[in-house]
Amino acid sequence: MCERAEFLRTLDDLLQPERFKDYGPNGLQVEGRAQVAKIVSGVTASRALIEAAIAAHADTILVHHGLFWRGQDGCVTGWMKQRLALLLAHDINLFAYHLPLDAHPKLGNNAQLGLQLGLVAQSHFGEQDLGCLGQRADGRSFESAHELAAHIQMAIGRSVALVSDENQVIRKVAWCSGGAQSYFEAAIAAGADAFITGEISEPQAHYARECGVAYLACGHHASERYGAPAVAAHVAAQLGLAHEFIDIDNPA
Ligand SMILES: [Zn+2]
Repeated sequence: MCERAEFLRTLDDLLQPERFKDYGPNGLQVEGRAQVAKIVSGVTASRALIEAAIAAHADTILVHHGLFWRGQDGCVTGWMKQRLALLLAHDINLFAYHLPLDAHPKLGNNAQLGLQLGLVAQSHFGEQDLGCLGQRADGRSFESAHELAAHIQMAIGRSVALVSDENQVIRKVAWCSGGAQSYFEAAIAAGADAFITGEISEPQAHYARECGVAYLACGHHASERYGAPAVAAHVAAQLGLAHEFIDIDNPA
């Protein structure tokens, strides 16, 4: 068990939120018990995750997608009321780290996605240097974008949307977890043969065909499933806390 304040300090030291310009508050989003004993980690602070955390007797939730984002109307109605009511009624702490949890060089979503896919980052690209550019850890190439897509499908257990016009060998791979469509052009400029992220939007399909760089969308949720449990497990071991990752399936 540890004090909530120590838990927050440990996370802030690890993830350094002050280094990022983000879309919502990083750190403690909803205050619960003063002591932390059991963490549930997950991708998103959805009602289903909060209910699962209550059932697991957690006092603390750590997620990548918290409750509060720029552009919300700020009203506690509908789904927001339901989620907050559950957290407050059960005195559960909600901690959320967005970009800092994408970027941590070992435990973050991008590093952990690379690990799952057997890729090593050699450099970074794009806004706030969040994108990873590298290659296969074994030094080999993928014979084609189709081979890379099949490899991702195997590694993360879901289908991949592939847009690619050519059957070129894939040596340099860029990746950025979640909804990083807007990083595609920076990945092309950085010299990638293929770009992996969670989502695709209409324009990127054309850029892929026109620039000869493969685009692989493997799911926003699926690509961001690895960072929060890695961070939570690390901090739980450091502070002597219990930890459980709960995956709430999401096809998006
Ligand atoms: Zn995300």
